[in-house]
Amino acid sequence: MIDKRNHYIDGAWVAAQGGADFPVFNPATEEPFATISLGSKADTEAAIMAARAAFPAWSATTPEMRGDVLKRILAAYEARTEDMAKAISTEMGAPIDMSIADQAASGRGHLKAFIRALDAFEWTRPNRPGIEGQDLVHEAAGVAALITPWNWPMNQVVLKVGAALAAGCTMVLKPSEIAPMSSIVFAEIMDEADVPAGVFNMVNGDGVGVGSILSAHPQIDVVSFTGSTRAGILISKAAADTVKTVSLELGGKSPNLVFADSDLDAAVARGTSFCFANTGQSCNAATRMLVERSAYERAVEVAKATAEATSVDMPDKPGNHIGPLVSQAQFDKVQKLIQTGIDEGARLVAGGTGRPEGLNRGWFARPTVFADATPDMTIMREEIFGPVLAMMPFDTEDEAIALANDTPYGLAAYIQTGSTDRARRVASKLRAGMIQVNGAHRASGMPFGGYKQSGVGREGGAFGIEEFLEVKTVSGIVEAG
Ligand code: NAD
Repeated sequence: MIDKRNHYIDGAWVAAQGGADFPVFNPATEEPFATISLGSKADTEAAIMAARAAFPAWSATTPEMRGDVLKRILAAYEARTEDMAKAISTEMGAPIDMSIADQAASGRGHLKAFIRALDAFEWTRPNRPGIEGQDLVHEAAGVAALITPWNWPMNQVVLKVGAALAAGCTMVLKPSEIAPMSSIVFAEIMDEADVPAGVFNMVNGDGVGVGSILSAHPQIDVVSFTGSTRAGILISKAAADTVKTVSLELGGKSPNLVFADSDLDAAVARGTSFCFANTGQSCNAATRMLVERSAYERAVEVAKATAEATSVDMPDKPGNHIGPLVSQAQFDKVQKLIQTGIDEGARLVAGGTGRPEGLNRGWFARPTVFADATPDMTIMREEIFGPVLAMMPFDTEDEAIALANDTPYGLAAYIQTGSTDRARRVASKLRAGMIQVNGAHRASGMPFGGYKQSGVGREGGAFGIEEFLEVKTVSGIVEAG
């Protein structure tokens, strides 16, 4: 059993002060392989105080100095890519090739984007061009609490830590207790990169313990949270008494609108695979496929074939299969929702409950496709966070848009069409933060975030840095002469 009970506070690994031990499971074997400590109040306060003490000096550094620190972190991160990918794969089940190419690589991409954004950022700018003595000055907002989930662990940690560092904030990171190993590697990287003591601190723990202490603590100025809408609401309430800035990246139930004029087979196969990627455990997964009626039956066939061709296998095995779900709780939830889909009358065309053939252990689920779903069904409304696609037909563009927007979420939306005019028209009517047309990727540094109950604020690049800044107006300073 790997012992990782220390926390990283004030530039050193320190012994936990009284927190309970907590096992970390390998989702492919259902066996615990490491022990962390769930941080106590004393651990959390020590980290907050270290961050508070480091704030005056760090927030006074120049953007160039902070850029140099980010470049050192990037170099150390690149040197540890393999360790990082292995940690992620073991803690949350991402297959190793995907863990290297996507999970670990996302952290590197975000660091590069923050370095570019920091370089271009105008810290002091006139309120109106050409008007002197009316300036907008951007300053670090203070000490930040960063609370992250397990599904894209480094993506989410680096989106927060990179932005907070670039802004001049000091911070306490609380990674997911379910997938803490990658953040432990990340804290080692911060140490190797000589990030000044106290600027970055990490305390392991759960939401009820460390998470709620951070969210309510008077010495925390900003809370940046990624996770479930449920926890986001609790955090916002806990942060309200001390009027903190809170940014939230929450859940989604993103639609994929497939029009008959699209390159149909390719669009449906791509959309289905994208829904299953990371075993469906992505907040921006395209989980509701809405298909123009004339193309619907063909689309169902292609989605079924794609699901049947999706292999599920061990995370440590090379290849482009998908891995297990992260936990027993997630496995149980996905099984229950698949059964609910069947019970509520959706047509099961691929997959179903239980494990894939040949896998008797591990939290593996079957790639599942439901056709003929209706908007009121649970599988069309709830975030499943498993490899489950729900499909339904539509007749008109207006109906497709109405169905797409019929959700409390608004994170992402996907459009498949051969018409640029239609793509532009539909994109303008979708209430979602990120629209991707015909499989286009979203460049790193583009703002990530959603409308409605998918969150508040944006992460990545310059928008991400702004979440950790205050704006100060300074009037009356005019250059002499
Ligand atoms: P979760 O909300 O249970 O946990 C996320 C983090 O919050 C963990 O670190 C957890 O310990 C902590 N936490 C839980 N309750 C808390 C509380 N009351 N106070 C403070 N902290 C608390 O979510 P999860 O199961 O780890 O992650 C899955 C969810 O995250 C999904 O809903 C998914 O859509 C969402 N997500 C959103 C994005 C995005 O950017 N929009 C990205 C990834 C995941």
